[in-house]
Amino acid sequence: MKKDRLKLAIQKNGRLTDETLSLLKKCSFNIDHYKERLMVSVQNFPLEILFLRDDDIPEYVQDGVADLGIVGENIVYEKRADVETIAQLGYGKCSLGIGVPENEELKNISELNGKTIATTYPNLLSDFLNQNGIKSKIIQISGSVEIAPNLGVSDFICDLISTGNTLKMNKLKKSFSVMDSQAVLIKNKKLTENKNKEENYTLFFRRIMSALNAKNSKYIMMNIPKKSLDTIIEIIPSLKSPTILSLADETMLAIHAVIPSDTFWEIENELKKAGASGILLLPIENIIL
Ligand code: ATP
Ligand code: ZN
Repeated sequence: MKKDRLKLAIQKNGRLTDETLSLLKKCSFNIDHYKERLMVSVQNFPLEILFLRDDDIPEYVQDGVADLGIVGENIVYEKRADVETIAQLGYGKCSLGIGVPENEELKNISELNGKTIATTYPNLLSDFLNQNGIKSKIIQISGSVEIAPNLGVSDFICDLISTGNTLKMNKLKKSFSVMDSQAVLIKNKKLTENKNKEENYTLFFRRIMSALNAKNSKYIMMNIPKKSLDTIIEIIPSLKSPTILSLADETMLAIHAVIPSDTFWEIENELKKAGASGILLLPIENIIL
């Protein structure tokens, strides 16, 4: 049976592009000459990559023009796309928030009542206001939202904020958070009904999850005194049971384990105190659980 190739839509040129390509590279998908093309065939996997504006990705996936997409959660919700979110990818993190003039102090969300708020995210903002029982006037604009209050177009803004520097330059500051966002992998809801694509999808998904797991994990190796074994096993937040190896010196053991990357510096001192030496921390390329 001929298996159909999968189509994955990603942002052509923007904040998510580099990290998305680097994730795909970690999955060993070969993507050449992508700069000048709108669609690229991956040579070593049944996959086509479509390079699109991020705003179009949720709808393309919903309608099955693409089977899969990588895009910010903010766009998925704003477009009210009927797609399945299958993984949060851990990059492109930002938060949609209400920005107010520097000299104003909003203490309660109810102070948004009766105000005008400029945004490029009218759906997300109106959901947020409805959930909080607030009636504000939403002014939809297509870009450079931060200058709206200075131009007298609106009282406040609702926009994506990561460092807050753009707000500061426009004499604004963040008050309330509307939603936190990051890049996500989305899928057409009917994809797995297509038997010609189902198997490729399973393989694709396993590669992505393996690369994500590897990114969040490290391989730790150390030598320990035999008598500290129980203490050390308790300290190591291992994904699975650690490996214990004997050494030529019979009073010592070697331990290998996979740990969450961000825990190393939390446990390093305890390991030293328990007598661990020669501690090595190594990156991992892939993990198939
Ligand atoms: P396109 O040309 O594809 O329409 P764009 O200009 O609409 O691009 P970008 O600015 O590249 O979009 O942002 C893409 C996504 O990156 C956002 O939708 C959001 O999910 C994420 N992001 C992360 N940090 C920020 C930030 N500080 N400001 C805006 N978006 C951010
Ligand atoms: Zn866009």
